[in-house]
Amino acid sequence: MRRIAFANQKGGVGKTTCCVNLAAALAAVGKHILLIDSDPQANASIHLGVDVNTLKNSLYDVLVAGIPIEKVLIKNIRENLDCIPSSIDLSGAEVELANTVGRELILRNAIDTFASKNSYDFLLIDCPPSLGLISINSFCAVDEIFLAVQTEFFALQGISKLMEIVSLVKRRLNPALRISGVIATMVDTRTNLSREVLQDLNNFFNERLFKTTIRNNVRLAEAPGFGKTIFEYDPLSHGAQDFKSLAEEILSKNNP
Ligand code: ATP
Ligand code: MG
Repeated sequence: MRRIAFANQKGGVGKTTCCVNLAAALAAVGKHILLIDSDPQANASIHLGVDVNTLKNSLYDVLVAGIPIEKVLIKNIRENLDCIPSSIDLSGAEVELANTVGRELILRNAIDTFASKNSYDFLLIDCPPSLGLISINSFCAVDEIFLAVQTEFFALQGISKLMEIVSLVKRRLNPALRISGVIATMVDTRTNLSREVLQDLNNFFNERLFKTTIRNNVRLAEAPGFGKTIFEYDPLSHGAQDFKSLAEEILSKNNP
């Protein structure tokens, strides 16, 4: 199972859009996906049509109450796609876990136990826009980080802080961790700015920058409001094309 977290502590850069639609694109070609929503905003859960107000259990219960993943899992939310939803309760988890020994590894341990009995091709975790304990739990539970980067002026600001945290987690908690992919999002190749940021990303990340970029596409922004993936909402849109290509690119590269 490839374990990937979608991260960037900068808000609104496209993490959730990438996580959900890539999950859908990979599921559509027969890959078995487990998507974990680790953001208290629960955007990924809502994007998949989960009614987060009536949820009995969420990732919060796994992290704070030690409930096994089986009890929280929404199986077959789509064909080939299972989901562990989030809820607003999760925003209190960091404080509640502040004095728990081994608090950084709770998610990793829960996933390891679950994965020993269930097989998936990909684990995809949608991270919150912060570098707090929940993100650290996600970084400990995966081998790879995909950075979503919006191609705008402040794109690279904050990346060095993220890289510092990643190398700290790698040294102390999870030696396998690496940033293995960078996804340029909301790209508008007509603008010089978008092109310049893409060039900077290319210089900095080289082959880790995916060749496929996610273009600015209003259909991608509309789909979550309907609880639909882009493939359900508008399968002919640029957004659907881009996520299909990105999935192909990811599958064509051997796990770097
Ligand atoms: P947060 O940090 O709050 O979790 P995020 O990094 O997960 O945000 P998204 O929620 O995926 O970012 O995207 C932010 C906003 O931009 C959303 O309204 C989303 O629908 C929109 N959006 C994302 N990608 C695109 C795109 N390629 N084209 C147009 N709109 C987009
Ligand atoms: Mg998000």
